[in-house]
Amino acid sequence: MSNKVPHVVVISGPTASGKTTLWRRLVQNPGVDFSVSVTTRSPREGEKDGVDYRFLEQQEFDELIDRGALLEHAAVHGHSYGTLRGEVAASLEAGRHVVLEIDVNGAHQVRESGLPQVSFFIRPPSIEVLVERLKARGTEGSEEMDRRLEVVGQELAQAESYDYVVVNDDLEVMIAEVETLLGLGGEA
Ligand code: 5GP
Repeated sequence: MSNKVPHVVVISGPTASGKTTLWRRLVQNPGVDFSVSVTTRSPREGEKDGVDYRFLEQQEFDELIDRGALLEHAAVHGHSYGTLRGEVAASLEAGRHVVLEIDVNGAHQVRESGLPQVSFFIRPPSIEVLVERLKARGTEGSEEMDRRLEVVGQELAQAESYDYVVVNDDLEVMIAEVETLLGLGGEA
C-alpha cells in the first residue's frame, strides 16, 4: 500500500495476541488514528471510556445500528462491539490512516465496504503460548477465559482472508514488521 493514501488498517487476532499493544504503538506515529469502538461490555481495570472503548448500554448500541451509524458490528464473547462510521470517515477525510482492532466478522464487513484498507491478522506462535499469556494477563475469570479460548480455533481458521498474517513471537519484532508493512518506518 502507499502510505500517502489514507487507509483503514484492520487488525484482528485471537485474544491476548498482542493486538492492543500493537495499536497503542501504531497511533504514536504521526498520521495514524485509532477508531474507538462502541461496546456493551464492562470496562476492564485501567480502561477509559472514550479512549479504549465507548462503553454503552445495549439500547444505545441498538439505536446506533438503527441509525446506520455503524460501519460494522458483531457479537463477540457475548457482548456487542461496533465501529462508528463517522469516526473512520473523519480520519480518512483528514488524510490519516485509521486503525480498527476488530474481530474476524467485523473485518469481513469492512472488506465488503470497499474502503481503501489493509488487514493484519496477528497470531501467537502456538495455542500453548496463547493460554500462558492469557493466564499471565489475569484479567478474565476461568469461565470468561474458556469462552475466549473456544472461539480461537474459529478465528485462526480465518487468518488466510487477511492481507498479512503476522506471528507475534517477539512483540517488538512484530510491531516493527507491521510498521514496515504500513510504510511507517518502524523503530528508530
Ligand atoms: P476485548 O473485549 O478483549 O477488548 O475484545 C474482544 C474482541 O472484540 C476482540 O477480538 C476485538 O478485536 C473485538 N472488537 C473490539 N472492538 C470491535 C469492534 O468495533 N467491532 C468488532 N467487530 N469487533 C471488535
